[in-house]
Amino acid sequence: MEILDNVKNRVYRFGNKAADGSSEMRNLLGGKGANLAEMSAIGIPVPPGFTITTEVCTEYNLLGKDAVVELIKEDVEKAIENIESLMGAKFGDQENPLLVSVRSGARVSMPGMMDTVLNLGINDEVVLGLAKKTNNEQFAWDSYRRFIQMYGGVVLGMKPESKDDIDPFEEIMEHLKEKRGIQLDTEFTIQDLKDLVYDFKDAVKKRTGHDFPTNPWEQLWGAIMAVFNSWNGDRAVYYRNMHGYPADWGTAVNVQAMVYGNMGNNSGTGVCFTRDAGTGENKFNGEYLINAQGEDVVAGVRTPQQITKIGSERWAELAKIDEVERIANYPSLEELMPDIFDELNGYQQILENHYCDMQDMEFTIQDGKLWILQTRNGKRTGAAMVKIAMDLLKEGLINEQEALLQIEPNKLDELLHPVFDPNALKRAHIIAQGLPASPGAATGKIVFFADEASKYKSSILVRIETSPEDLEGMNIAKGILTARGGMTSHAAVVARGMGKCCVSGAGALKINYKTRTLTVGDHEYHEGDWISLNGSTGNIIEGKVATMEPELSGEFGELMKLSDKYGIMKVRTNADTPKDAKIARNFGADGIGLTRTEHMFFEVDRIKAMREMILADTLKERKQALDELLPMQREDFEGIFEAMEGKSVTIRLLDPPLHEFVPHQLATQKELAEQMHISLQAVKNKVAELEEFNPMLGHRGCRLGNTYPEITEMQTRAIIEAALNLKERGIICKPEIMVPLIGTVKEFEMQEQIIRNTANIIFKERNDSVEYLVGTMIEIPRAALMADRIAERADFFSFGTNDLTQMTFGYSRDDAGKFLPIYIDKGILQVDPFEVLDQEGVGQLVKIGTERGRSTKPQLKVGICGEHGGEPSSVEFCYRTGMNYVSCSPYRVPIARLVSAQAAIKASL
Ligand code: ADP
Ligand code: MG
Ligand code: MG
Repeated sequence: MEILDNVKNRVYRFGNKAADGSSEMRNLLGGKGANLAEMSAIGIPVPPGFTITTEVCTEYNLLGKDAVVELIKEDVEKAIENIESLMGAKFGDQENPLLVSVRSGARVSMPGMMDTVLNLGINDEVVLGLAKKTNNEQFAWDSYRRFIQMYGGVVLGMKPESKDDIDPFEEIMEHLKEKRGIQLDTEFTIQDLKDLVYDFKDAVKKRTGHDFPTNPWEQLWGAIMAVFNSWNGDRAVYYRNMHGYPADWGTAVNVQAMVYGNMGNNSGTGVCFTRDAGTGENKFNGEYLINAQGEDVVAGVRTPQQITKIGSERWAELAKIDEVERIANYPSLEELMPDIFDELNGYQQILENHYCDMQDMEFTIQDGKLWILQTRNGKRTGAAMVKIAMDLLKEGLINEQEALLQIEPNKLDELLHPVFDPNALKRAHIIAQGLPASPGAATGKIVFFADEASKYKSSILVRIETSPEDLEGMNIAKGILTARGGMTSHAAVVARGMGKCCVSGAGALKINYKTRTLTVGDHEYHEGDWISLNGSTGNIIEGKVATMEPELSGEFGELMKLSDKYGIMKVRTNADTPKDAKIARNFGADGIGLTRTEHMFFEVDRIKAMREMILADTLKERKQALDELLPMQREDFEGIFEAMEGKSVTIRLLDPPLHEFVPHQLATQKELAEQMHISLQAVKNKVAELEEFNPMLGHRGCRLGNTYPEITEMQTRAIIEAALNLKERGIICKPEIMVPLIGTVKEFEMQEQIIRNTANIIFKERNDSVEYLVGTMIEIPRAALMADRIAERADFFSFGTNDLTQMTFGYSRDDAGKFLPIYIDKGILQVDPFEVLDQEGVGQLVKIGTERGRSTKPQLKVGICGEHGGEPSSVEFCYRTGMNYVSCSPYRVPIARLVSAQAAIKASL
């Protein structure tokens, strides 16, 4: 194909083993367009077409329809001519018509998020030409029927009017099926299809007040604009926000010659994966339908058949279908069309090798000829993601760095989450079997509508089938169950992408939306009833089933080992108990970056002593109460040190305001008064005395230790004695004592002196010593600015980015929930700064603090212990800032280890 200069800017063509664009251009052409171009260029049979760039979408949003048509009209006309000459047919021609599809495609794949129109260019005259040309009247009218239906829905807004309403076109079809006593779309006669076309057009006229457009060019422009509009539709906006994709990316529009899977029994369509998207197993797999167009597979209306023989056999076993019936009614493509299968099998290998990643492909067979319509890196579960990356590495398709970069950090989360407790499962009553569409375990209460998923704390969304409108509810639900649809149905694909448990195609379920009931055999379940799903086996279980922690695969271990090989920055954990410390150690934590001592005081036997300490009027009384607390604290620390097997443990001194510990209810106040032999009034007075207008900025952090030095003394004693006790047992640990919430140099110095004096006293008493560090949190902006002075005395810094964010923005963490969502909605903030570190603003203080601290003490140890320590983009920032470690909750440790490696690799590229 010769490249015309003037069609290069806004419109890129592909087809016949050539293309203007390539897979490098996904930002401009969208993922679908870029890959269509690439496939065409490497010789895969792709129907010819062209892509209108994402930039035009942005222009459309700025300038509107007329101006944009003006901008691209000539290019689009030339590109259509190009398709015409490659296909030997003419757009809008009555003798030899060319039909096209109009498909959306953003730079990242958003499955089913935006709309596609097939068979465009057909009308009352063209349909006759199409019938004559293909010698297939049935097919021609079926295509026309489909076109009006899709164009009507996507471009003319012919959608259900309310959620329990049915699609206006579906309604007409159901009506006719009933009248004719048939079940399937494929049973319609030519006359039925003609009637449908007539009735559809009538319905459009009635509802919109306009005739259905007959001019192919008017149809084409209408569809192009509808794709642009879909970028700002509710579904796309929700998906974008969920993933944090900016609104100005826009979508490309792909216009492509139609190929027909609905031309009869020598035609068909399907979806396939180069590897198993659920488990990662290196097995080509997929599903297809004979005599169907692409949307039939995705919509899950008919149950598709398996592509490979082995897949078909496995499927039949689950569905309890014997071999004779399988071969008669559900043969695999491999058995039914062996030549087509071989060709497809060849392309899937070429494409996987070309993209060096698992591919998800769409194909259509038109009268015995195979066409590939799409390829993309396949969505997969967390488990599959890890296995595929490690396998591709072993197969030599990618190197270690590439394998690490291929892993999506947040998706590891799925692997670390619960599965069913096998003991609870033994008693489980399996009520039905569906397809294992997306692995994992889920238990919750039945809801039948996506917008009601938040009705219960744990809900299971039960649908006949799902549609893109259900996305938000699917995200909220713990699991998804559908009665229809295969492994590539909307529900299955979306659930796998979300890492959400899903069972699809459970044909034994009868779902009634009106009565809100689910019937299996003669048993009826209602909204609010408990149900459990096993997404790995497809089992549907009655009632609630206990879940437990998962076992980690060998590949997961390999990935973590590889992460540590490349990761430079260490990963520690935030843990307050020996139990948490052990979990984190198993996840590979290299020490503890934050132990909050206050949590230890809330346990029943301790809170009493703590309250006595707080209510004490004299120093003597206070010391008495602290003496009671000492052995308990010491024991806790011993447990934690032991669990961490000699790794560094940072312990923060008491931080929260004291009023958090005193009783606020009359009954408990009375109880305390009795225990302490004081009057109720005395307790009340003390509680009132501790009341603060703004406790977060009040008497807390090192302000406690500086006003009540005996608290710091007791805590230091507990820490140092615990370390000495362990030393006697042969375990060497090096505690890092951390002073919270300092703003001035003096605040730190006073605490440091108390700590060191106390330690020295104990060393003398015990005639033994241990190494320890004294450092501080940097969580008040002033501390970051004074870091050079503070570092004169501090052994380490740990950025407490929760408080630092609160104080830098001036947002109260406890009240921000009221306005942050609105701020994000209005675009004042892009993300919640308590979740994702604000690198631009708060990040400056982190940088300044680190730089100034190290200007005094070049070897100063620096880390982070806020929630951000386990959030991928924030962890990367910490690496770039030169931190020695991040510290995060135990379950995020593997994620942070991976990101640490990815950050180092990215920096070295
Ligand atoms: P989605 O992004 O929702 O998958 P697509 O644009 O890929 O939307 O199209 C929806 C369905 O229509 C797919 O199954 C696709 O294969 C099919 N399709 C799209 N274009 C054509 C075409 N030119 N010929 C035949 N089928 C097509
Ligand atoms: Mg597609
Ligand atoms: Mg803090």
